[in-house]
Amino acid sequence: MVVTGQPMGAPDPGGRFGGFGGRFVPESLVPACLELETAFAAAWADRSFRDRLDGLLADYAGRPTPLTACTRLSAQLGVNVVLKREDLTHTGSHKINNVLGQALLAERMGKHRVIAETGAGQHGVATATAAALLGLECVVYMGEVDVERQALNVFRMQLLGAQVRPVTSGSRTLKDAVNEALREWVGSVETTHYCIGSVMGPHPYPYLVRELQRVVGEEAREQYRGLSGGEDPDVVVACVGGGSNAAGTFAGFVATRAELVGVEAAGGAAVGRGVPGVVHGMRSLFLQDEVGQVLEAESISAGLDYPGIGPEHAHLAEIGRARYESVGDDEVLGAFRLLAETEGILPALEPAHALAWVVRAAGNGTLRPGANVLVTLSGRGDKDVQQVREMLS
Ligand SMILES: *Cc1c(COP(=O)(O)O)cnc(C)c1O
Repeated sequence: MVVTGQPMGAPDPGGRFGGFGGRFVPESLVPACLELETAFAAAWADRSFRDRLDGLLADYAGRPTPLTACTRLSAQLGVNVVLKREDLTHTGSHKINNVLGQALLAERMGKHRVIAETGAGQHGVATATAAALLGLECVVYMGEVDVERQALNVFRMQLLGAQVRPVTSGSRTLKDAVNEALREWVGSVETTHYCIGSVMGPHPYPYLVRELQRVVGEEAREQYRGLSGGEDPDVVVACVGGGSNAAGTFAGFVATRAELVGVEAAGGAAVGRGVPGVVHGMRSLFLQDEVGQVLEAESISAGLDYPGIGPEHAHLAEIGRARYESVGDDEVLGAFRLLAETEGILPALEPAHALAWVVRAAGNGTLRPGANVLVTLSGRGDKDVQQVREMLS
């Protein structure tokens, strides 16, 4: 198995992380993927592009986000919990880091239009936000079922000037929206950039999105060292849907001694229960039935409803550099309430999964007493309050 350089370096020229990744697309999309790969490499090495992105991340998105040491939560759990506060960004999650970068790339490639897939609507809203900021046309593909379930996010996208296209194929959810966006991109590559929402899809997306999220982990590492007199945390924890906030977080700590833990929803545990397959342009782990049909992921948090995982995570699991755990809905609700009551922070249900694992691991001794734990709080919980209310009643 060929791995280029260190864990979480660049993938090999075929876009593979060990046995995962690659670029499994129709012939007609290969030039678009190659164009993007070349454009990203040039942009990422270009000081003026990086300065422009850093400027938007600072003045528009609100970076750097702080680290918060959780005094009362830590006293209760017996381990020291520090949060990386992506919930405090404009639009309320780490997704803004990715979409600002990709919107700038679209502009640099001379494309005046972006398309995106969305499940619950969060990546659609983020993409519509970045498109409005840069004056790009925006079309969002969303399964018809999700359009009905997430009417408020559909309206948000429309307020931001985006067009939402309901997808009526297959199960009419996220995986079908990805297929539809890929299909439309074949016919519109001249004018259109496909803004993928996580570390998934054909090469170069898993690499590109991880690099755009790397800022989370690099900021957190430097801030943590500042807070602790130069030490790194013992354990770094992040939730995993497609895996972008986890990949960005892990990228900052992979070269330290920190243990890396990704936490999936029990109903979407692609590392725990998935099998290798080629879906959405990449080889990775997916929940599938006996004949290889991709299954629906099930979770209380719509943002973790992707039935696969980014290929780099499949690789990190395979080489043992990161481990992947899963937690159930009851544990997630418990962690949501615990953070609210002890720290005055309502987390999104997605990062409440990461916290739920910390609670479990502190309770059963997997984390030793006094262990130093950094958790990425990928988003804020305002969007989930109504759902939590229904679940608790
Ligand atoms: C979308 C989302 C996720 C899941 O996406 P990843 O690519 O796995 O990071 C996690 N947390 C929040 C708050 C989200 O909005």
